[in-house]
Amino acid sequence: MTTPLDIINPSTEEVITQVAMLDVGEADRVIERAAVAAPAWRRVTPADRGRLLRRFAEAVDAHIEELAQLEVANSGHTIGNARWEAGNVRDVLTYYSAAPERHIGKQIPVAGGVDVTFYEPLGVVGVIVPWNFPMPIAGWGFAPALAAGNTVVLKPASLTPLTALRIGELALEAGLPENVFQVVVGEGSSVGQRFVTHPSVRKVCFTGSTSAGQRIMEGCAAQMKRVTLELGGKSANVIFADADLERAAAAAPYAVFDNAGQDCCARSRILVEASAYDRFMELFEVAVRNVKVLDPRDEASEMGPLISAGQRESVSSYVEGAPVAFRGHAPEGPGYWFPPTVLETTDRSERTYCEEIFGPVVSVVPFADEAEGVAMANDGPYGLSGSIWTRDVGRALRAARGIETGTISINSNSSVRYATPFGGFKQSGLGRELGPDALRSFSEEKNVFISTEE
Ligand code: NAP
Ligand code: MG
Repeated sequence: MTTPLDIINPSTEEVITQVAMLDVGEADRVIERAAVAAPAWRRVTPADRGRLLRRFAEAVDAHIEELAQLEVANSGHTIGNARWEAGNVRDVLTYYSAAPERHIGKQIPVAGGVDVTFYEPLGVVGVIVPWNFPMPIAGWGFAPALAAGNTVVLKPASLTPLTALRIGELALEAGLPENVFQVVVGEGSSVGQRFVTHPSVRKVCFTGSTSAGQRIMEGCAAQMKRVTLELGGKSANVIFADADLERAAAAAPYAVFDNAGQDCCARSRILVEASAYDRFMELFEVAVRNVKVLDPRDEASEMGPLISAGQRESVSSYVEGAPVAFRGHAPEGPGYWFPPTVLETTDRSERTYCEEIFGPVVSVVPFADEAEGVAMANDGPYGLSGSIWTRDVGRALRAARGIETGTISINSNSSVRYATPFGGFKQSGLGRELGPDALRSFSEEKNVFISTEE
């Protein structure tokens, strides 16, 4: 049975369309079709699998503008960001289209014969995606999973299913066989949870909140099901006094307010060496006030609204009574708008400093020296991303090695590149996505010994 689900534009609060939400029975049928399609898909030759993924990438490329406009309407992403996100799906598919022919095992010297390893597909992979980056996060899961010879069932977040549904159609138009890549819209707690409990799903690739990730990992234990988790973050932007302060301050708003702060890699704690603190704050205030929070359809828009009324309520609850230093602008009227907000934190046990707010709110805190800066970056249970700004190469590398995080950039706020591994330390996740080795986590390594004894 399906029930209609209203899809809301977060910039206008209007219902833009309805989609069919599947129940658990329907989800079971989708999973069973994926399981039936799996043996033929794994037999497709590596070159042909690569060719089909390139055609899929070309189909996405031919629809970048359509996908971007859908994301602007469904998620409130700025049009510039949304075009980049659709382009990222194309690029990730292109990158992994070369992988089937390079999924190379080993030949290992042993006594009495020949020993070789194979990377076998798992079967059906369930990919569960959150609402903050509906297109890229989906692609980081489905592209390497398909390349490794698995069939995929993708569950977008209920708030943001439109681009996933369109990408599912493009896969078929590109010639992927029926049921190799299916998109199911359904509630996380029922349909998403079914990926965990259905024995034909051999791996769950989940991105979202740490609490849902914990439940999924617990559930997967029952069948020893493979799991990759990309969870929350509270990343630090560590700015030393010898840095190019102008550049660091000009870039810092975008490292946390991009996508209205709804980014697991957001640098939502800015740690500044005390001797540069006042100068940094002067420069940072100018930069924050200049962030263009506008209708996301406007080409000049740098930040759109939050995803939902609930998210705005949750973000607001953090800011009430918090030590606000200054704020940027936000439009009036309909839409889940929230202005960029800067807090000067003096108490590091405050909720605003410890918890992932997932909105355009940043805490700024001074530190005394390198050791304290690194220790403060390591405050808390997360370790996903981060930045270091300094002109001292030795210090940059010492700090980069000292900070417990999966990804860190020096004199840059970049986070995710499809050609490099991405994932979290500590409670930010388990496993890695992207990069040259991504297919390994969508495969089982098999060892085969062939006797050469007479
Ligand atoms: P969430 O509950 O973790 O949802 C993420 C995805 O998981 C959605 O597709 C959701 O489906 C599904 N899901 C939820 N519960 C599930 C379950 N028990 N089993 C299987 N799938 C399940 O995140 P949220 O509630 O939307 O957001 C809450 C907070 O999580 C945010 O404020 C933010 O702090 C954090 N968050 C982090 C990230 C990240 O990138 N690390 C992304 C999103 C949110 P439905 O949409 O149908 O519920
Ligand atoms: Mg939830």
